[in-house]
Amino acid sequence: MIYLDNGATSFRKPPQVRQAVLEAMERCANPGRGGYPAAMAAAEQVYRCREAAAELFGCQPEQVALTSNCTHGLNIAIRTLVKPEDQVVISGFEHNAVTRPLHALSAKVTVAGQRLFDWGNTLEEFEKALRSGPKAAIFTHVSNVFGYILPVEQMARLCRQYGVPFILDAAQSAGAIPVDLQSLGADFIAMPGHKGLLGPQGTGLLLCARLPEPLLQGGTGSDSIRQEMPDYLPDRVEAGTVNVPGIAGLAAGLRYLRRVGVENIGRRERTQAEKTAAGLTRLGLKVFSGSHQGGTVSFVPSMDCDELAQKLAKRGVAVRAGLHCAPLAHKSAGTLETGTVRVSFGHDASPGQTQQFLAAMAALI
Ligand code: PLP
Repeated sequence: MIYLDNGATSFRKPPQVRQAVLEAMERCANPGRGGYPAAMAAAEQVYRCREAAAELFGCQPEQVALTSNCTHGLNIAIRTLVKPEDQVVISGFEHNAVTRPLHALSAKVTVAGQRLFDWGNTLEEFEKALRSGPKAAIFTHVSNVFGYILPVEQMARLCRQYGVPFILDAAQSAGAIPVDLQSLGADFIAMPGHKGLLGPQGTGLLLCARLPEPLLQGGTGSDSIRQEMPDYLPDRVEAGTVNVPGIAGLAAGLRYLRRVGVENIGRRERTQAEKTAAGLTRLGLKVFSGSHQGGTVSFVPSMDCDELAQKLAKRGVAVRAGLHCAPLAHKSAGTLETGTVRVSFGHDASPGQTQQFLAAMAALI
């Protein structure tokens, strides 16, 4: 299979990831819940994951909270910064993982910057929205639908200038573009462990520059006498037993990324995305591409998007069709009615994948 749905999750993980999961299942009990060797081995495994993440993302190990996916981390961060009916600014390319929690809080949302691949528009609209004094800003690093890389360093600078706390959704950038908590000055950065970080599904990270509000209350193996959640990181937001095998796999994914290099992987993905966009354009399709684009390309085919994705699947090519859990991004790009077909490259992006995808497309249209 030619797997081009890395925007959903990375599928062919490095073999070390699987190995680490298996070893953790054989060796590890519950971390922080005992002083015997299997519990200690689990605690060490979990700490190694925090340490590897801290090194890669410019923070301290205790600032790395382990979550079950990116949505989980975003919910914690949003619930910390946003109270019911607060005013919030978001980009025009946010995922439902941001917009639904805001909707649940009845937040007053200003959508700033809806033009694809246009940094000038994104920054101008964003600054305008910050001037109205929102309680928080939340923005994605890369659009999961169109691969648009937002000017997050400049957006972060504007947030600091206007004194607005912010959350970065690094779901589509972590593992392909450098992300650094300290230099960005973000309050929180949420990311999945199972996409670009190459860990198993059911893993995620929330990088915390301030103390978050817990979503769940429960046992942490620490401060057990108190009925309040611990008031320190990361225990405050890690109630209940963590996913030790998943975390061990995620740590292996992080080590792999360090060895291969995030920038190398990002370059590889972008190269294939560019070739894909050019090839689809040659086939006469409406393709969304531009100068600030990562390893993801969306297009509108002449037939129904789902039908095309199914036909591609029969030819052994995995892509995703529809709204990609991001109706706001489609509204911004004018594709809410049709949806798009999305091709998203991963750490194993190769010219062969692009060629086979384009050959299948040429045969189908
Ligand atoms: N944010 C963006 C931009 C995404 O693309 C996704 C997943 O596709 C998420 C958040 C949610 O990630 P998860 O499925 O790990 O909760």
